[in-house]
Amino acid sequence: MTLLAEPRSSDTATQGSSEAPRGARMQLYSVVVAGSAATFATLLAMTGRMWMLPLAAALVYLTIKSYRIYCGQIAADQRHHEEMMRLHREAVAALDAARQSEQRYARAARHDDLTGLPNRRLFGELLQRSMARAARAPEPRYAVLFIDLDGFKLVNDSLGHLVGDQFLVAISSRLQTQLRPSDVLSRLGGDEFAVLIEGFATPDEVCVVTERLQRSLRDPIRIQGRELYASASIGMVLGGPHYETVDDLLRDADIAMYRAKATGRGGYQIFDPHMHASAVERLTLETELRHAVERHDFTLVYQPIVELPSSEICGLEAFVRWTRPGGRVIGPADFIPVAEETGLIVPLSYSVLGDACGQAAAWQRMFGQPLGISVNISSRLFARTDFVDEVERAVEVSGLLPGTLRLEITENTLLNSADIVHTNFERLRRMQVSVYLDDFGTGYSSLSSLQRYPVDALKLDRSFVAKMTTPDHGCAIGNAIVKLAQELGMGLIAEGVETLAHAEQLLALGCPHAQGHLFSEPRTTEATEALLARAFERAPSNVARLS
Ligand SMILES: [Mg+2]
Repeated sequence: MTLLAEPRSSDTATQGSSEAPRGARMQLYSVVVAGSAATFATLLAMTGRMWMLPLAAALVYLTIKSYRIYCGQIAADQRHHEEMMRLHREAVAALDAARQSEQRYARAARHDDLTGLPNRRLFGELLQRSMARAARAPEPRYAVLFIDLDGFKLVNDSLGHLVGDQFLVAISSRLQTQLRPSDVLSRLGGDEFAVLIEGFATPDEVCVVTERLQRSLRDPIRIQGRELYASASIGMVLGGPHYETVDDLLRDADIAMYRAKATGRGGYQIFDPHMHASAVERLTLETELRHAVERHDFTLVYQPIVELPSSEICGLEAFVRWTRPGGRVIGPADFIPVAEETGLIVPLSYSVLGDACGQAAAWQRMFGQPLGISVNISSRLFARTDFVDEVERAVEVSGLLPGTLRLEITENTLLNSADIVHTNFERLRRMQVSVYLDDFGTGYSSLSSLQRYPVDALKLDRSFVAKMTTPDHGCAIGNAIVKLAQELGMGLIAEGVETLAHAEQLLALGCPHAQGHLFSEPRTTEATEALLARAFERAPSNVARLS
């Protein structure tokens, strides 16, 4: 019955002009039916059949009623049809929006937001296809360039990330203009880009492209009124059937890039398998070093520092040795750079400092001598707020005599003009801890940097000592350093003294102290103790002489 109900007034109103003719027809029909009924009623009255009037009226009523029901049904069908059409239109619009949204997400998942370039994921997919195509080719058919900008962090740190982002966009545009449409430039993340090159005849062509990419960055890039200069280190890998995964190929390109970076800015290197072997060795070294630092797995050896000309021992320099798993002993030159890079140099240095102070204090007590102890200190430590606290603790715990600890620093330390470095120098001076400048003349500092901090002594580098007896520039520089130390009132220790001729030349110049194989090589704790015992026994008047 509900379905047959009359349309509501609001529904009638919404039907608009299409309902008006139907209403007019309804009125006409009503007039016709009413007229016919009146005529029929008149005829019935004239023929004396008035009893049929109620029957006729009922028929008229039912006729009108059924017509109205019919009209209501038509209107409801029309409304239903329009509602269905509206829902259909809305469903189509929603599907279109969902499709567009899906396409946007699919693009965003494979492209870099900042530059619009393919990202690492899409680059990997494209590289995978290239690898599949070249799987059976005897010669390299594709190459990958791994590009890392030099010093980009400085731009971000000094000018902010907004400028950094604009810089990256400008660089990506420059790189793109140097490539063919078939080459793929991708931003892997941060300041790292990669290029996939196919269709070259010889590897030399890839080298030409690489050099062109680097040249394109030489001109300055103007951003917000500033001129910024870019350079990139590039690692190149020539693809071949021996590569099975994208990760392997990108790993090797990355290794070659790091090799390029290590040889200086703005260069490129072609990967060869030796690079991978050395990268694996480097990672193994780092892991083992980490464990060694946790276990204090290092030993110290000591080399005497003597006075000239008496050869009396006035101090010892401590060097750290590490016995790697497998029993191979390596010196600081082989693992200190790794310790510096990984930050392990901090716990390692504190451990060495404590051990050296402890051993030196024990020998001071054992022999009754104010034996000096020199410990090599990384420039990184001088910029730490806890550094002097650690030195203070090592001196106190060991009971080292005041004024006998010498910290040997490199010229890099003098280049850092941060407040904390000044503060640390001052605190050390108040604690009577001396500072020696190691390997003097081989670093990057200028002579004026000697005035910046209170340095007590210079250590003349072995490369100058080695040339002492040959009349050339090296000899002249060595002589000048000896004079410089004398003029500045600083101490001087010559390193790497290996022959009597060296010692005699140093003596003639007035160099007061020396160390080197002529006097003694670095020795183990036991061997050093035996040496000290022999030396001090022969010199009862507090003078130690080397045999
Ligand atoms: Mg040293």
